[in-house]
Amino acid sequence: MASREVLTHSSDETLQRGREIGERLKPPALVLLSGELGAGKTTLTKGIVSALGAAEEDQVTSPTFTLVHKYGHGAVVYHVDLYRVGDFHDLETLGLEDFLTELAIVIVEWPEKLTLQTDWPVLGIQMEHAGGDTRRITIRDEAGVLGAAGAGPQRGATSP
Ligand code: ADP
Ligand code: MG
Repeated sequence: MASREVLTHSSDETLQRGREIGERLKPPALVLLSGELGAGKTTLTKGIVSALGAAEEDQVTSPTFTLVHKYGHGAVVYHVDLYRVGDFHDLETLGLEDFLTELAIVIVEWPEKLTLQTDWPVLGIQMEHAGGDTRRITIRDEAGVLGAAGAGPQRGATSP
C-alpha cells in the first residue's frame, strides 16, 4: 500500500483518525509516530488506544517524563515517548526489546531516536503542522498492518 495522506482540522478529528487506525490494528504491530512537538502524536494515540479497548481516551497521557505507559489487559498497548531520551543507555533501560516479544501494540513517539532491529510489522505515521489547527497525517503501511481496505474490521466500531 502506498502512503496515504489526510488532513485534520481539530484535535477531535485527529482523535477520530486515531480510532479508525486502532480499529484496524492487530497485534503485534509497531507504530512509529513522528512529527514535531504539538503535531498531535499523543492525541492520535488516545484514539488508537481507546479503539483497541485498552484504555479510555482521557486515561491516555503523554509519557514524556515516564517514557513508557502500558495500557490494557487483553489488548496490551505500550505508548513510548523518546523525546527526552538522551543516549543509548537510556534506550536500553526502557526495555523496548522486551515489549517486542509480547503480543502487543507498541506506539513510539520520536522514533528517530531509535535504531531498532525488529521483524515486527511497522506502521509509519508522520504528523505535520499545516497552519492553525490543521495537521497533515501521512500513513505508510508497507507491512499491510492495516489490511486491505474493505477487508472487514477486526474490531467493529459497535463491538465492546
Ligand atoms: P504531540 O504529542 O505531537 O506533541 P499532542 O497531541 O500532545 O502533540 O498535542 C497537540 C496539541 O495541538 C493539542 O494541544 C491539541 O489540542 C492541539 N491541536 C490543534 N489542532 C489539532 C489537530 N488537528 N490535531 C491534533 N491536535 C491538534
Ligand atoms: Mg506527545
